[in-house]
Amino acid sequence: MFGEVFLAGFGFAAPGTATESCDNCGYAVLRSGMSQTLIRTAVVILLLLIPALGAGLLWGAAWAWALLSVGLGALVVHHVWNLGKLRDWASRSLGESVPEGGGAWNDVFTLLYRRQRAEVGERHQLARSLARSRQAGRALPYGVAILDAEYRIVWCNDSCEAHFGIDAKGDLGQAITNLVRQPEFVTYVAAADYSKPLQLQTARGDGLILSVQFVPYVDSQLLLLSRDVTQFARVETMRRDFVANVSHELRTPLTVLVGFLETVRELKLDAERSRDYLNLMAEQSRRMQRIIADLLTLSSLESAPEPPRDDRVDVASLLARVRGEAEALSGGRHRILLDAASGFDLLGSDSEIASAFGNLVSNAVRYTPPGGELRLVWRASEKGAEFAVEDTGPGIEAEHIPRLTERFYRVDRGRSRESGGTGLGLAIVKHALARHQASLEIESTPGKGSRFTAKFPARRVSPGSPGSAQRSVSPQPQVAVPHPEPQSQREP
Ligand code: ADP
Repeated sequence: MFGEVFLAGFGFAAPGTATESCDNCGYAVLRSGMSQTLIRTAVVILLLLIPALGAGLLWGAAWAWALLSVGLGALVVHHVWNLGKLRDWASRSLGESVPEGGGAWNDVFTLLYRRQRAEVGERHQLARSLARSRQAGRALPYGVAILDAEYRIVWCNDSCEAHFGIDAKGDLGQAITNLVRQPEFVTYVAAADYSKPLQLQTARGDGLILSVQFVPYVDSQLLLLSRDVTQFARVETMRRDFVANVSHELRTPLTVLVGFLETVRELKLDAERSRDYLNLMAEQSRRMQRIIADLLTLSSLESAPEPPRDDRVDVASLLARVRGEAEALSGGRHRILLDAASGFDLLGSDSEIASAFGNLVSNAVRYTPPGGELRLVWRASEKGAEFAVEDTGPGIEAEHIPRLTERFYRVDRGRSRESGGTGLGLAIVKHALARHQASLEIESTPGKGSRFTAKFPARRVSPGSPGSAQRSVSPQPQVAVPHPEPQSQREP
């Protein structure tokens, strides 16, 4: 015990007594602080005094003083040496390892070591959460940039780079108004009124539309926030166009109707004239009815739940129905062939599929001049099954094809109207098919004819053996029957 205290006093730790090696007990010792140091120093001085006294008694006072001086000198050297180590360490960066010391200095250095370890741990923790925040900032689907008071970029995330076509590294320190030069953006920045966001059509050429807003941030910095609202703006434009189209489509027959009504009311017309006018009025009313029926069909397709996946649609009887309707509409003016494989059916909504097929067939009848031929084909395909309607009609120029399924889009407005069209038929087809994960393919050669194909995926085709399909090709005999009033085929 005596030996240990003696050695510790001079800075030599006895084996197994290092404070570092015993975390808890070492910390408990260190907690006693100042008093510990005082007691330790007192013990060391006492340990120096005892041999000095012994030497004085044995060999005289000179030996006592000499021994005491040597001991105290060694103590001073020990402290100065360790103080130097402390000073060196303090002048270096925080990460430098703490030196080792003996005696009282061991406690001091251990304390410093613990404090350093805690601080470095905290720093790492902070660095990790900062990196996480930055990663989150970068990954945000919104564009975020930090700008200084002069609108210079301090930091920006990936989305901001993509939105404005800037380079997060190369453009740092550049004013955003030098990089985004659209006049409306520059005016918005100059007005410095950021209460409302700015809708900005970017110059990127891909029609990207952004909602841009500035938010005051710390130290007169600004946050620039940008959001891709292209889809939202498109839907908004479509909604506006749709309302305008519906109003326009209904206004025309209504105007005609009101005009006739006033004529009939104001003028004294003979019975034949009156009947003619009433017929024309009835025709306009039916047109409005058809438009409204088609609009209701579209809206019910949009809001209805997904068609069932396990209801079998009897395609053979559906095709017979569709062909019957086509014959009635054609009134014998076309040759209608049905080429239908058997042995497999569709899974889904009978009324929606009937509406889609009926519209395709009614279009073929309406647009194919008398004497033309229509071919309805139902067959298995590589990916499932398909229903195609081929006609020998006027065909469609390539530039119109991508737009045919848009609401109210017609190649020839007059012709569509004459044949009782509303401009909504193919929109209904596309919707009804999409609800069955099917697609519509349109091929056409102007002057020769068109082929509209509804392609169904395998999961919408009921189990069966398509390979065992029988073929039935049944030409429609040319029978001269009066041409019936064109009927809308669009109610699902
Ligand atoms: P509509 O009621 O006018 O027929 P649709 O949406 O059914 O409206 O069709 C859109 C347009 O596509 C038609 O106006 C017509 O110009 C063209 N179209 C559709 N089917 C055919 C076809 N079989 N042959 C030629 N043109 C067609």
